[in-house]
Amino acid sequence: MRILPLYSYSSHTDILFHKNSNKNMSKENSYSSIKKLSSNYYTPTFTSNKHHHHLNLSEAELRERLLPDRFVPITLIDKNSSAYKNLAQGDKDALKYLINAAQYIEPVAYKLDNPNNISFEKYLLSEINKGNNQAYMTYRLFNGQKGIIGKDTQSDIVVLEKHAKQLPGKGFYPEDLSVEEFHEILKNMLNNGEADEVKKILNLRSIVVREGNKLKAIDYTEAFKKEFRRIALNLERAAKSSTNPQFAEYLTNQAAALKVNDPMLDCKADKLWAKMQDTPLEFTIGRECYTDEMTPSVMRNPELVELLNKHGIKAYAKDNLGIRVGIVDKEGTKFLSEIKHYLPYMASKMPLNNMYEQHINSAIKSDAAMVDVDLAYVSGHFAEYRGGITIASNLPNEDKLAVQTGGGRRTVYHKQMRDAKFAGEALNRRLNLLLNPEQHKYFSNSGIHNFTILHENVHTLGPKLNLERLGTYKNKIEEFKADTGAFVMFDELRKKGFYTEQQVREGVISYITGYVPKGHDTTSAHRICDIMQFNKFLANGGIEVSEKGVMTINVQKVLQGAREMLTDAIKIQLSGDANVAKEYIERNTKWSESLELLSQNLRAADRKLNSYIISPLIKTIK
Ligand SMILES: [Zn+2]
Repeated sequence: MRILPLYSYSSHTDILFHKNSNKNMSKENSYSSIKKLSSNYYTPTFTSNKHHHHLNLSEAELRERLLPDRFVPITLIDKNSSAYKNLAQGDKDALKYLINAAQYIEPVAYKLDNPNNISFEKYLLSEINKGNNQAYMTYRLFNGQKGIIGKDTQSDIVVLEKHAKQLPGKGFYPEDLSVEEFHEILKNMLNNGEADEVKKILNLRSIVVREGNKLKAIDYTEAFKKEFRRIALNLERAAKSSTNPQFAEYLTNQAAALKVNDPMLDCKADKLWAKMQDTPLEFTIGRECYTDEMTPSVMRNPELVELLNKHGIKAYAKDNLGIRVGIVDKEGTKFLSEIKHYLPYMASKMPLNNMYEQHINSAIKSDAAMVDVDLAYVSGHFAEYRGGITIASNLPNEDKLAVQTGGGRRTVYHKQMRDAKFAGEALNRRLNLLLNPEQHKYFSNSGIHNFTILHENVHTLGPKLNLERLGTYKNKIEEFKADTGAFVMFDELRKKGFYTEQQVREGVISYITGYVPKGHDTTSAHRICDIMQFNKFLANGGIEVSEKGVMTINVQKVLQGAREMLTDAIKIQLSGDANVAKEYIERNTKWSESLELLSQNLRAADRKLNSYIISPLIKTIK
């Protein structure tokens, strides 16, 4: 699970563009850099058909979107950071290989995201070489959102290619496959004794292609053989250089899992990964299913559900992939580990906890690792900025074999992402336009950080069985549980003496001020959660809004409202009924005048539309 997706982006292209984006730099210079880049770019496994591409955004709109206060960089650590300087030489070497490995996930992530990303990128590069400035500006945005179709912070869909369409099956399924045809084909295949293939089609690690009038699954290890092998090779090298045997063991096992189609190897690697608490370096291959709408759609077809049940087949939404590379911050990590001891206490304070099995036992036994990390590089889904960027993640998710067979989970916090989120003039404007001046003193980044920590811990708590039955609503309800649970646990941990009254006040007020909905976005799980919470607090007096759209926050009422919503979330999870989830979300995500007023103020305060990541270390290590 990832929290608060403020997504982000990274790649060497970005460094070039950032360096070259100042006005005095000649165009020729940046174009030649891009040329150099394209020549050593990896050939994707899947080459898309040669489409005719057309740029969608006008030069005027692109210019507006690329203004410095609209397109804001997030800078990762450089060679002068103490984190990097304090590494042993062996770990510096290992870090280099890990960053190399991370780059190979990029073309894979592009392919999984949209079948036309790679051909569009090639088109942009060739146009840039011809001196097309519109293509150059489009390419900068493409690198920020990492794809043809993205979303900005105002929840507007940003489409960079004129004819690009939102596909339910993203890049996982054939471009021309509709949901209806998908269901029809699956029914036919199930009725023709092809349940084994259907199971492969509905699993989380396969690409689906047409084969005659049927469908066929290709496991990721086959589909992306070349890229996975290169990643594996770099992981093996990093394992040899690393000074830490536990880290090396994980890397070796992760490399093995990339080379053959065997989920058991992933399971083993995931279990080793989840235990890493004291390694100097951080490396993650993120496998999370946030965009596939095709696979979970089967849950909405009763006839198909019955057939699938008969054959004992579960449908798992497909994983997007990304890689995260960083250096563990010992001090930040120590603070995180203190909260772990309170997991059993928090579990005992979860609503309806007599109605489901507590899964924290495995988390406690495995000592649920939590690390605070200085990021060196991110790629793939960890790097796409689509209305936001991930500031922490708790993995593996429940759909993974490792968790299903008793493995632990591990939470990684992203220091650079959280520090960039609320800073400078944009923060002052946000406070002035949105929060009662008497409450400004309660806004703090540590308040947001504490909320994040609790959010991630609450993911470990609550029902774990049969969540797949909620279909496309699974993640939305899970995030809702984590957000509302974070408020509740603030209150509970204050009773226990872990947080002070002041910290709770700061956490609540900072979070609410920080997560005012910027628009009526009912597609993203996290944005839906924000809207549902604001609606609750606006209704119960937790938030009062003045005529000018300035909030006064009543902490006690917020905590009370959160407690009720957490109970709702657990009830929905226990119901295992997608319709119950759908109805709840629809009922509670209505857009009101107050929300519109708040969002207008927020848009005036925070002009950022998109972001992109700068990774200075990549230059050092080349
Ligand atoms: Zn989350």
